[in-house]
Amino acid sequence: MDSEITRRDFLAGAAAVALASGAQASAHSAAPPPVFDPLAEFDYGAVELTGGPLKRQYDRIHAAYLALDDDRLLEVYRERAGLPAPGEPMGGWYGRDGFVPGHSLGQYISGLARIGRTTGDAACASKVAALVEGFAATLGPKDRCFAAPNAENIWPCYILDKHLAGLMDAHQLSGVAQARELIQRVFHGALPYIPERGHDRIGKKDPPYDETYVLPESLFLAYELTQDRAFYDRAMAYLLDRDYFDPLAAGQDVLPGRHAYSHVIALSSAGKARLVLGDEKYLRAMQNASHLLQSTQQFATGGWGPNETFIAPHKGQLYASLHTTNDHFETPCGSYAAIKLARYLLCTTGDARYGDGLERVVFNGILAVKEPDADGDYPYYSTYGAGARKVFYPKKWPCCSGTLVEGVADCVKNIYFRARDGVVVNLYAPSRAQWTEHGAEITLTQETDYPLRGTVALRVTSTAPTEFALRLRVPGWMAATPQLRLNGKPVHADLQQGFAVVRRRWASGDALTIEFPLQFRMEAIDDLHPETVALLRGPLVYVEQNPAQDEVAHASPEALRPVAGTSGVFSSSAGNRTRTYAPFHMVRDEAYTMYAQHG
Ligand SMILES: [Zn+2]
Repeated sequence: MDSEITRRDFLAGAAAVALASGAQASAHSAAPPPVFDPLAEFDYGAVELTGGPLKRQYDRIHAAYLALDDDRLLEVYRERAGLPAPGEPMGGWYGRDGFVPGHSLGQYISGLARIGRTTGDAACASKVAALVEGFAATLGPKDRCFAAPNAENIWPCYILDKHLAGLMDAHQLSGVAQARELIQRVFHGALPYIPERGHDRIGKKDPPYDETYVLPESLFLAYELTQDRAFYDRAMAYLLDRDYFDPLAAGQDVLPGRHAYSHVIALSSAGKARLVLGDEKYLRAMQNASHLLQSTQQFATGGWGPNETFIAPHKGQLYASLHTTNDHFETPCGSYAAIKLARYLLCTTGDARYGDGLERVVFNGILAVKEPDADGDYPYYSTYGAGARKVFYPKKWPCCSGTLVEGVADCVKNIYFRARDGVVVNLYAPSRAQWTEHGAEITLTQETDYPLRGTVALRVTSTAPTEFALRLRVPGWMAATPQLRLNGKPVHADLQQGFAVVRRRWASGDALTIEFPLQFRMEAIDDLHPETVALLRGPLVYVEQNPAQDEVAHASPEALRPVAGTSGVFSSSAGNRTRTYAPFHMVRDEAYTMYAQHG
């Protein structure tokens, strides 16, 4: 106890010194210019899902992570601390001798804190508090925050990133007061194990795996929360400028050969660096990376990185990967990274194109994964080759078990964004958003069966008639202009940066409906194989269910007819052969084929 007080006093003193020196430094150097972005994210508590496939997944993930056993999650930490450890060992990646011991505790805390803030479920906040308290009890006088030697020696930065996210979310979203103090304790406990300077991860199989460059976003956030300059300095040391952001900002393609997920999640650190430092090179790096991902790396689902590695473009390597691997997209982790990048770019530029990319990977990436079981079996890779099935990763509790709950919890962040003059509707999903506009309390309610059907109904409730703009994303795949009706009558909307803008004095009961025509279209796998295509309808990738082994040809879009009694399933008949197509996210255990020949 004495040493605790001494340490805390020491930290408080160090923070005061750091603050003073920080103030000194900013007096001598130009402060970063303030960044005023066109859009901002809503708080987790301001948006709720009310129906549809996103809510179905959200509710299941909510229940599944709430049911995780606290004693099991803490076992590996308690054992290392020499405390009674009553839980069964988790095994898999998480266990003492696993690949990354104890790695995802912070992510489970983070996901539950986010879901609790959105749903108001007090059980989430209680579980977050219990896990934080249980973890804190294992730190000891040296603040040892890693569960086992593999964690300390191979993955300290990777795990520290998760710890920081969990503690910050526990503090800010679940109101766990203890978590704030732990942010600094955990960082100082990690210092003996993390390098002074950042480095790139070259090749998937070559140690050190540890990804210093994923950390700056969390370090900058911790700096903003604690004002401890040590976080800021380490964030600066870990920004992957020379090898990655600088060439990307200069328009170069430095993706090929790099580890896919870690270099996309690193772009969130670029997004945060731009906000903190005011340096627009980070925006250029993010925009170029996003463009390269979409134009050279991406499957129809929005996924990328076969075998977790970026391909060399214009060589037919995406096509080749259909036949050489089943590991096409590390889906929960990759979706989480792609969606965060899209949100940064959407907020920074106000350009709906980034909402299109976000929508694609939401519906065909994270929503389309196999649901986890109760004992550590999780989705990891999605397979896009012929006759594939959705399977679990062979090892329990992988990385994707952490990003799955965080990514699903973030679903509510993807639907609406705050604009200076109103609100953006970015995703079409049954949901509700609440905010204050010119002193009036506004509720926007969205009802729709999108993306299976194209009708979206929005209804405004307001404590007083209030002028603001509603900006509705018009997806880039749309061939025709959507029809808008206000209170039943056709209404004109200006198209700005891909958003249809309806600005008026809104009163309670005002209703806006949009009709998106949904048609099938085809997308080629890459530029060298225009005849190998995926079928899409709106944002959804359609796959052939239970395909015949010997045939790899897609039906022509014109031949597809809705299957009576189903929702969103189509079929085509030719001779005595009937093919059935369903949205990829609706596939469960049956075999499917995503890419096939056309023409
Ligand atoms: Zn993963």
